[in-house]
Amino acid sequence: MQSIIFKKPGVYAFEDRPKPSIKNGDDVLIKVLGVGICGTDLHVLMDPPLHPAKPDIIFGHEYCGEVEAVGAEVDWLSPGDRVIVDPHPPCGHCRHCRSDRPDMCTELYSQQDTPWPEHGVTRGLFTDGALTSYTCVPAHSVYKIAPDTPWQIAALAEPLSCVGYAIEKLNIQAGDTVCVLGAGPMGLLFASMAKANGAVKIIVSEPHEYRREKALLCGATRVVNPMEENLKQVCLEETGGLGVDHCIEAVGQLLPDAIDVIRPNGKVMMFGHDETAQPPIRLAEIVRKEAQIYGGFLGKYYFEKTARIIESGILPLEEIVTHTFPLSEYQKGLDLLRAGKALKVVIYPEKYN
Ligand SMILES: [Zn+2]
Ligand SMILES: [Zn+2]
Repeated sequence: MQSIIFKKPGVYAFEDRPKPSIKNGDDVLIKVLGVGICGTDLHVLMDPPLHPAKPDIIFGHEYCGEVEAVGAEVDWLSPGDRVIVDPHPPCGHCRHCRSDRPDMCTELYSQQDTPWPEHGVTRGLFTDGALTSYTCVPAHSVYKIAPDTPWQIAALAEPLSCVGYAIEKLNIQAGDTVCVLGAGPMGLLFASMAKANGAVKIIVSEPHEYRREKALLCGATRVVNPMEENLKQVCLEETGGLGVDHCIEAVGQLLPDAIDVIRPNGKVMMFGHDETAQPPIRLAEIVRKEAQIYGGFLGKYYFEKTARIIESGILPLEEIVTHTFPLSEYQKGLDLLRAGKALKVVIYPEKYN
């Protein structure tokens, strides 16, 4: 199988890998249909990298596919079923897994106090992923989705599962006001989910015009160019001087701005992920406002719901997937993303062998 292999920081290669096969009773062999390029992938491919990955694994973690074959124990999936795949398999036996925190499973990621890559199992980063023709994974990582769901948007399942769970923590309700910082794919998913949850004001702050226009198609009721307008003023104006109920930070460095725009006792979701960011924070602002600050990273028990959301058509996901390329043109996708000319790029294998 033609596969994209992560070699070392900044370097990937095309290599031929053997097609996997069913080994265990609960295995599912999946024909890959679409693989999203994630911001994390771009971070891995920087030198020095902003995110670790294990050399020589098949790259790519956001994907959907079609069941090709199942092991003897899998009686609820059949060849031809369209599926989405959770690339973060919790171990089930660590203290987090056994305390209702599978998204914090110690085996998923390299921890700061342990040497990576031995401690990571996330597919497409630390074990073989999906930028290839077939993957073989245990059935508990696989979720059925309606067969007519376009693969281009089903490939958004993993990022949407992270966003959906974060939105659940904020508990956005009908009538609420929301500000989203950043209109990359994650910010746009947040805006569209906020709208689906009934938010009546969705203010999206984004310096690039192309992305601001997309935000208007994804639920934003007002877009702001933070280089030209005062975001806090806009948020106050839009909320009768109160501040927004929720601010979602989908950039990675803007926590102070997020705290600034919420109402007293409002909520902040810190979701943008930048390991290097250390912005100065006015702590008294948190105290005075009794701000509620949440972190968001992975989804928890959210893939099942993600499948239902995607197949329902309730979100304008086709606005977020801006490009598709065959596997052999992976570099084109990277180039467009690095130039800021694409939002979500989805790669598909052009041949199955
Ligand atoms: Zn991702
Ligand atoms: Zn675990």
